Amino acid sequence: MDRTPFPHRSDFADNGGSAHFTWAALAQDSDFDPIAIPGRIFDMAESVRAAYNNAIDTDPETDYGLRMTSGYRNPIANDRLPLSSEASLHQWGNAVDLAPLRNPESWPPGYDTYDDLMNLIYEVAVIGLDEDLYDFLLHGGHVHIEYDPQP
Ligand SMILES: [Zn+2]
Repeated sequence: MDRTPFPHRSDFADNGGSAHFTWAALAQDSDFDPIAIPGRIFDMAESVRAAYNNAIDTDPETDYGLRMTSGYRNPIANDRLPLSSEASLHQWGNAVDLAPLRNPESWPPGYDTYDDLMNLIYEVAVIGLDEDLYDFLLHGGHVHIEYDPQP
């Protein structure tokens, strides 16, 4: 498959992250390859995390975490994943997968199942991000969010 335009060398980093999604957490929770395209994946994850916490309650101190289970994927890593598309926007740093925390003891009150939390992540992403710019998909235990502006 033709995967042009390739990301540029200057798009990549080997460290960084954002306030709530550290490089180390990405390495622990995701199909991370220590070289990644930062930027948009962290912006999307932070926006959805903020909307998720706001949906749980209005206390600004509320902070339930999310896991980033996939951010940037190089094309070889991408094609090794059984459900991936050859055209996956993960290969350009334009898609992120978010999931609830694994430990039910750290889940917000009133949400009893992993699926309840998956649905909440999906709903807040759809509400919080412009549908003309982003697409959303619930699948494989995570919510896939991609930046895909419609012409
Ligand atoms: Zn994905």
